[in-house]
Amino acid sequence: MSETTAAISLRPTTATSKWAGSSCPKCDKAIGAGEGAVLCPQCFTPHHANCWRENGNSCAKDGAGARILEPRGRAGAPAAAAPDAPAQASVPASAPAPVAAVAVPAADAPLVELANPWKSARVVQGPNESEVFRRSVMSIVTLLAFWGFAVLVAALLGVV
Ligand SMILES: [Zn+2]
Ligand SMILES: [Zn+2]
Repeated sequence: MSETTAAISLRPTTATSKWAGSSCPKCDKAIGAGEGAVLCPQCFTPHHANCWRENGNSCAKDGAGARILEPRGRAGAPAAAAPDAPAQASVPASAPAPVAAVAVPAADAPLVELANPWKSARVVQGPNESEVFRRSVMSIVTLLAFWGFAVLVAALLGVV
């Protein structure tokens, strides 16, 4: 009963469980299949989950204390019904996965459409006048630059 912060998980006992058939140190009876069991965190001795609770949430052998973690987060209630509850615990966890997988491609489709570069490219190409104007301006600027360069070279060479 030294510490109460440690936590141990409630395990369902099956015929193949390592502790199946071993005797509980609290009640000296065998732990059978279908009964909730816990393992002491210190000496790993299996107990009936109910015997662990009746012993003040501690080991009947060495007194190590630990809180039992309920498999489905139901606090308190399964104390009496513990042997049957854990058997169903694994069933609901795997069910909802396929639904989410189907929804993903549909959500991605509009994003791909928006990201398509050819769509916006066509829109920009539409008004040709601005493109022509831009090209003529560029041509004039280029010609002026060449003319200025030629004049500069001529002046430097003393031709003019
Ligand atoms: Zn017991
Ligand atoms: Zn122990």
